[in-house]
Amino acid sequence: MSASAPTRWPTITKDAASLRVIPNLRDYDETRRAFSWDEERRTLSGLPGGHLNIAHEAVDRHAAGDRRSHHALRFIRPDGTTHAMTYSDLAETTDRFASVLRDLDVRHGDRVFSLLGRTPALYSAALGTMKNGSVFCPLFAAFGPEPVGQRLRLGSGTVLVTTRALYRKKVAPQRDVLPDLRHVLLVDADGAPEAGTLDLWELMARAPAYGPIAATSPEDMALLHFTSGTTGRPKGAVHVHEAVTAHSATGRYALDLHRDDVYWCTADPGWVTGTSYGIIAPLVHGVTAVVDEDELQADRWYRILAEQRVTVWYTAPTALRMLMKAGTEGIRRHDLSALRFIASVGEPLNPEVVVWGKEAFGLPIHDNWWQTETGGIMIANYPAMDVRPGSMGRPLPGIEAAIVARDAEGAPVVRDERAQLVEDAHTVGELALRPGWPSMFRGYLGEEDRYRRCFAGGWYLTGDLARRDEDGYFWFVGRADDVIKSAGHLIGPFEVESSLMEHGAVAEVGVIGVPDEVAGEVVKAFVELKPGFEASDDLKRELIGFARKRLGAAVAPRELEFTASVPKTRSGKILRRLLKARELGLPEGDTSTLEAAR
Ligand code: ATP
Ligand code: MG
Repeated sequence: MSASAPTRWPTITKDAASLRVIPNLRDYDETRRAFSWDEERRTLSGLPGGHLNIAHEAVDRHAAGDRRSHHALRFIRPDGTTHAMTYSDLAETTDRFASVLRDLDVRHGDRVFSLLGRTPALYSAALGTMKNGSVFCPLFAAFGPEPVGQRLRLGSGTVLVTTRALYRKKVAPQRDVLPDLRHVLLVDADGAPEAGTLDLWELMARAPAYGPIAATSPEDMALLHFTSGTTGRPKGAVHVHEAVTAHSATGRYALDLHRDDVYWCTADPGWVTGTSYGIIAPLVHGVTAVVDEDELQADRWYRILAEQRVTVWYTAPTALRMLMKAGTEGIRRHDLSALRFIASVGEPLNPEVVVWGKEAFGLPIHDNWWQTETGGIMIANYPAMDVRPGSMGRPLPGIEAAIVARDAEGAPVVRDERAQLVEDAHTVGELALRPGWPSMFRGYLGEEDRYRRCFAGGWYLTGDLARRDEDGYFWFVGRADDVIKSAGHLIGPFEVESSLMEHGAVAEVGVIGVPDEVAGEVVKAFVELKPGFEASDDLKRELIGFARKRLGAAVAPRELEFTASVPKTRSGKILRRLLKARELGLPEGDTSTLEAAR
């Protein structure tokens, strides 16, 4: 692996003066040493008889206590007006939703899907479904009919909560091939009947505003989440109620949630971040969570941060890069003085962006790493810990992470049933986690073999390549599928992308390997320019030269192409496999999660 670690970025040090509140994790080693999942579980209230239900931890116990009048969720409508729900309101609507399911004979373990924008109905459905002991599966509202049908079939959806327009366009035409789908509940029926559907609000108005919460066991399935489909066909990851123990711990340590926080997670619940950290973790901590019903617009976002007095903000690299592209001027027009912590997930966070955060907001961006399968944050940068720009940080308390050696074919090396770990700092291998944390997925729905293949020699293998430095910080190298082999070098696309991102003309970049007779593969970059820059041969030469100076000729792109937009998943991940398929004229594969071209 090329040795050019992005160490030229100086460490961003933390001191007491830079921290606005006393962090929950003050001493990393001491917190890890003292931590146990059993202790963490005791911070939750649980249900009689050893039962556990996510919705009880997130809503009812607060509504029954001193948080009843505290804002649980604050929605910002597209026109900028707001609508707040207190913990007590949320307890009531989720009880009603659960009652509706009970009346419809929707049972424990049945799957309730949503196809909705980020409106109150989505949040009531998510938590109400869990209150009924059923399994919630949120779908991204912008999915086309095919991905919707595919996921409903794979997950045997019994109920779908959606809008009239989405139903007509995406579900009604295929209803006859969805035999398990017994009920479609419309959130905007307004009394006018639609064949094959029910009016959710009418049913809710008639349902009792209280009811028993299902006595779910910790191992009962609570959520079904589809992966982003970055590397291929999306997988349905199964999560259980016990996961809430991890949402609680990670909300405390990685997001540093304190009771008075106003917290904003920008992810849509159609992706796991929008559920684990857009719904469950903030509510478990009894804080106020902001939900923007609209899409990313730089000025709108700054206005929300300012007007809502957001203190903790959890977003994604793609959003941050878009904000960076829009310039910092917009930030100056707003009072963002309440903001004290910014975190990011979903993709590698370029060091350039971490440092930009410090300039633009006075706060570095704290990268963290996890996947749909892990259910919660596994590796993070913490408020009290220095940030090494480009690093994902260090494992959460209760999480054991390691680098597993790979053989020449890229398979994990296992001897005597034990995975061989890479002990040397900076040597690349596969990022692995010791199984047993509460939010670990319990299976890929309908794909038992694929699930089993994720484990080897006592470890869960993540499919991502990484390395660890001498101080235990982890550095992302690339997805195993994306790594480029060129003239004996193993090159992570992220390293090349980050280097090009440092050039003032570059807004976004995706890097792949293209076949080459001599080198095996050579590096090719697809570059999207910032406004005001024109594509030209001169600029192309300049960018290649720029990367070469930083990375050396062996790692820098040999080829570079300008593109109007880099293809991404709807959750904002660069689809390198699509760049590659297009480059090589191969079939595009599963594009169900592809974002429409901007
Ligand atoms: P699929 O598994 O269907 O190909 P996906 O892996 O993109 O899609 P997710 O579970 O949404 O689906 O994403 C998790 C992946 O995102 C991680 O395995 C990793 O590759 C990437 N990722 C998440 N956070 C980070 C991060 N902080 N740095 C680098 N990569 C990250
Ligand atoms: Mg994945």
